[in-house]
Amino acid sequence: MTPTLKWHQVQVDLKHAFTIAHGSSNHRTNLVLEFIHEEIVGLGLAAPNPRYGETPASTEQAFQTMAQRGLDSPWRYRQLLERVDSDISGSYAAKAALDMAIQDWIGKKLGAPLYQIWGINPETMPPTSMTIGIDNLDTVKRKVLEVPHFEVLKIKLDGKHDRDLIGCIRDVSSQTLRVDANEGWVDREKAAREIEWLASQGVELVEQPMPAHLHEDMAWLKPRSALPLIADESFHGSADVTALAREFHGINIKLMKCGGLQQAKAWITLARYHQLQIMLGCMVASSLAIAAAGQLAPMVDFVDLDGHLLIKNDPFQGLGLEQGRLQLSSAPGLGIWPFDTH
Ligand code: MG
Repeated sequence: MTPTLKWHQVQVDLKHAFTIAHGSSNHRTNLVLEFIHEEIVGLGLAAPNPRYGETPASTEQAFQTMAQRGLDSPWRYRQLLERVDSDISGSYAAKAALDMAIQDWIGKKLGAPLYQIWGINPETMPPTSMTIGIDNLDTVKRKVLEVPHFEVLKIKLDGKHDRDLIGCIRDVSSQTLRVDANEGWVDREKAAREIEWLASQGVELVEQPMPAHLHEDMAWLKPRSALPLIADESFHGSADVTALAREFHGINIKLMKCGGLQQAKAWITLARYHQLQIMLGCMVASSLAIAAAGQLAPMVDFVDLDGHLLIKNDPFQGLGLEQGRLQLSSAPGLGIWPFDTH
């Protein structure tokens, strides 16, 4: 018998309307993928992001194509994922879901969590940052005071009120801050000045200071930056690592952008070779996807895996959180199961 695929959409509702430099929204659509073989169901999740031209409909289309072309044995997953990659262009979220579901299947078949199969020590898990979205200053202060158990906060900037925002957070918190400019600065001189000021406020790093297409400005900014610069929008599945290393000190690897766990592992190796720092990030997503990324989190410098903490109706359970660090379940595979069946 060859494996089969099933999928369905789930809507995840945000605790706080999520505002970043690109816009605002109250919910996201995730797609749960089941990889079914020998009576074992491997689970994967896609969180398509319109920023990268992916939607729930295009993700379902990609699943349909995978199912129609036929699936090989999960034990030959490298061959299968390579074929899917050449059959379907883009659709990184769908490919990530397939890879995740196959790895979950393998873990369940072997009866071991993935981190154990891959030789990763979950006790070296770095703290995750907790995202604070853009809002008025009183609300930002209130949100910060709600999360004292996180060592690190990630602050989304809007490019207009950045100093007021950081100043008001510093009034109430001494937590380590990371800032995500989300391509918000278009003037490189201003970016350099803002970064210098942020460094004086105990900020640890800056994610995506300028728009992704401003390659020369970013190459100018890197040696002048007082803080490490991490590529997010500038880094995607087929990125040119030499160009990235010229513009940034590190990369934010997200399963939904690079196409899955195998690709993420390959990027971690490549980034280390090029002496790039590594942040492991996520989309707003159920803990199913966050637990998948969490399997690799002990390998990276900066963990930014809070997508499931930003929603109020996570359909999955099994992933813990202790003192601001993800606690991976010792259950097989991803260590995650739906709320209504366990
Ligand atoms: Mg970002």
